[in-house]
Amino acid sequence: MYDMIIIGAGPAGLSAAIYGVRAGKSVLVLEGKTYGGQIINTPEVENYPGIQKMSGFEFAKGLYEQAKNLGAQIKMEKAVSVEKRETGEQSDMEAAEADENESGTDASVFVVSTSKNSYEGGALILAMGAKNRMLGLPGEQELTGAGISYCATCDGMFYRDKVVAVNGGGSTALEDALFLSNYCKEVYLIHRRDAFRGEQKLVDALTKRENVRFILNSVVTALIGDGRLEGVSIKNKDGEEKTLKVDGLFIAIGQEPETALTKEMADMDEKGYIQAGEDCRTSVPGVFVAGDCRTKTVRQLTTAAADGAVAALMAVEYLG
Ligand code: NAP
Repeated sequence: MYDMIIIGAGPAGLSAAIYGVRAGKSVLVLEGKTYGGQIINTPEVENYPGIQKMSGFEFAKGLYEQAKNLGAQIKMEKAVSVEKRETGEQSDMEAAEADENESGTDASVFVVSTSKNSYEGGALILAMGAKNRMLGLPGEQELTGAGISYCATCDGMFYRDKVVAVNGGGSTALEDALFLSNYCKEVYLIHRRDAFRGEQKLVDALTKRENVRFILNSVVTALIGDGRLEGVSIKNKDGEEKTLKVDGLFIAIGQEPETALTKEMADMDEKGYIQAGEDCRTSVPGVFVAGDCRTKTVRQLTTAAADGAVAALMAVEYLG
């Protein structure tokens, strides 16, 4: 039995692991994909305090090694079910004490199963992060990997000297367009409004690139190509439609929380984010949430790491 089980080895989960082991707790981190979460797709991290410039992959590797070297057990196993089991009755005095300090410390054990094993923990930290949102257009799934990508840093090299489009208006889309403009012949940046949501610094950098064209107030309405993407249909706010011939489309229209695993367990908002305030406590005593899958307004590397620290320290307090 572990003191804490953390689901997700992104910046939130690994930060929680660091704080958990440093507080003397036994910590298991379970990860179904690869460590680092979404940050591994970021070419350059430039806004993490104290770090001038570092690739997202390098950042993730450092965090992983730090947690591991401090003593966290990190297993590459996908959690497939989570269950809370009561292990015994509390005495009246224990129950009263738990009510008083609101820690909710009851005799619960959290059982997390993967396809290989089952693990027990005294507290649970949910740090599953978020996944890329899809456009939801016909052919999107079939053409993924055949002209459609959600990761410019992973797939950009396949489009050297080709014509590509990026869809989205946040920092990810802006960074993707900037990255691709280094290698591609032409980069169209398609965004549904006339103002970008992402960082102005990135917009300024893009306006200086001669091979970048902005297509604003426009949405992608269809994906053209049989077996391989050949172009996209786009429609502007006046209802005019046109076809754009492209070799690749990079979709960067935000994320959705990866919270299906715990939907029966902790309260979520209507978008599927797990509800918790800045103390990272969920509706279930002993269960904490950290990072992009928590209800909050700012989802950044810094706030993910901060959540990890808070969730771990709250879990330590809960464990008593
Ligand atoms: P985001 O900020 O949520 O932006 C998503 C973009 O996609 C928005 O511009 C949105 O348009 C558009 N969009 C959403 N659904 C759409 C749809 N169905 N069709 C067309 N367009 C759609 O997502 P993100 O860019 O991935 O960034 C996620 C978080 O990571 C943000 O907090 C961001 O600041 C952070 N981040 C930071 C950095 C950095 O600091 N260097 C880099 C990358 C990401 P509207 O604007 O009209 O809503």
